[in-house]
Amino acid sequence: MKILALSDQVVEQLYSPLVKERFGDVDLVVGCGDLPNYYLDYIVSMLNVPLALVPGNHDLRMVSPISDQEPEGSAGSRWSANIDGMAVEEQGVLLAGLGGSIRYRPDGMHQYTQAEMARRVFALAPRLYWNRIRHGRFLDILVTHAPPRGTHDAEDPAHVGFEVFNRFIAHFRPRYLLHGHSHVYRRCDITTSQVGPTTIINVYPYRVIEVDIIHAR
Ligand SMILES: [Zn+2]
Repeated sequence: MKILALSDQVVEQLYSPLVKERFGDVDLVVGCGDLPNYYLDYIVSMLNVPLALVPGNHDLRMVSPISDQEPEGSAGSRWSANIDGMAVEEQGVLLAGLGGSIRYRPDGMHQYTQAEMARRVFALAPRLYWNRIRHGRFLDILVTHAPPRGTHDAEDPAHVGFEVFNRFIAHFRPRYLLHGHSHVYRRCDITTSQVGPTTIINVYPYRVIEVDIIHAR
């Protein structure tokens, strides 16, 4: 399965009819947060593929909840789902989503303290155990906005990563963790890291990921 993952910045090249030529073989679009709806809608409509997304800390509006219906205003796309705090299966790939960033403003939306994010992981866990019973593995891809603490994160108050994501990786062993939030300014910035069995990818502003589905039972 080929995934086009997007985050944080509108890329003109993708927001144009060229997207169909360049990314016509993509099976799923994953939004890692902080992107306008018009951009995501345009891309999934052009590619006619589903969209799974989590909110970033700048997303004020919650996007349509999970639904099989065609989202309004995006003719053609099969479904679009906010998978924040959820686990879903798409074309045989098991995804889970944990959006938002570290809390750096008392009134900020989609911002969580380390303890709050740990509770969100705890709330998601039963679905992952159910996956393991049904599919022989907890999940394939964790979709987040913020990175794990210590990987692709920073020390300023808004860009500290989540500690619980490291425990998540160690315990649930996803093959990928896709995140955004950490803007990349220099070519030498590291955007792909391997932690145990998990490849952590900062998708900012977009990344194509080829996932071969191995059904371990
Ligand atoms: Zn962000």
